[in-house]
Amino acid sequence: MAQRTLTAALAALATTFATLVGSIATAVDPPAATSAPAKAAAPTTAAGGTPATPPAAGRIVDMSYPFDAKTIYWPNAKPFQLEVVHHGKTEAGYWYEANQFCAAEHGGTHIDAPCHFAAGKWTVDAIPLDRLIGPAAVVDLRAACAANPDYRVQVQDILDDEKKNGPMPAGVIVLFWTGWGERWPDRKRYMGDDTPGKTTDLHFPGISPEAAEFLAKQRDIRAVGLDTASLDYGPSTDFLAHQVLNGANIPGLENVANLQLLPARGATLYALPMKIGGGSGAPTRIFAVLPEAGRSGGGGAP
Ligand SMILES: [Zn+2]
Repeated sequence: MAQRTLTAALAALATTFATLVGSIATAVDPPAATSAPAKAAAPTTAAGGTPATPPAAGRIVDMSYPFDAKTIYWPNAKPFQLEVVHHGKTEAGYWYEANQFCAAEHGGTHIDAPCHFAAGKWTVDAIPLDRLIGPAAVVDLRAACAANPDYRVQVQDILDDEKKNGPMPAGVIVLFWTGWGERWPDRKRYMGDDTPGKTTDLHFPGISPEAAEFLAKQRDIRAVGLDTASLDYGPSTDFLAHQVLNGANIPGLENVANLQLLPARGATLYALPMKIGGGSGAPTRIFAVLPEAGRSGGGGAP
């Protein structure tokens, strides 16, 4: 009898746990995505749900630049260095390739962990994974940025975008599309100045502190990214957008590639940084899963 009661209790516990896992997966993974979290959760559900099918290759957009000698870093940061350890046949007769690399945390396509500009906030390894996956909203600022390389995103830009493309979905990852990606990897055109070590004459668009504040307080966002080298515009000396967003425990994504391949709404973004213990940032593989054919890319909050 005691045995049976224990078994029943365990079964009830397992069901509760499975339901909990299922609801977490639902919260993390918007219906638009046929993606990893749902797939990972499926085998643990009591319902025995079938694992989700991975998205077709054509629906996945790579939004990271490669890390190599051309990768753009902050002018006073250590660039990416790859040292070949072995490349060729060994004495034993088999092929062997191995390298070692060295680089600053903040360069190329990377994440700014909240602790980058806010004491005591998440280090890169502490950012919960569900903050790094979410519905993407792409705000097109190309016209304003083409007219002014020191343009800063305004609150009105976000409101205008919402009027046109629909509200920011819950848990959104907001991406500002300045058009600067077209300049990569031309250091001079991308940064405004390519003098090694010099940081006082940089020019590229960024986010105003008011827009950062608006996103942090008025919208439900998981992360903010853009296709320039910094959340703050080139001439910034106080990095207020960083301070505001990181201060609200919101990670930043910088040097995001291929924004032109995303719809204004409907894609799901994945930003997976290297898990550097205690890191203030890290190289990040960012990709997006595009909405299914036939799904609206504009206006629909997933
Ligand atoms: Zn950074």
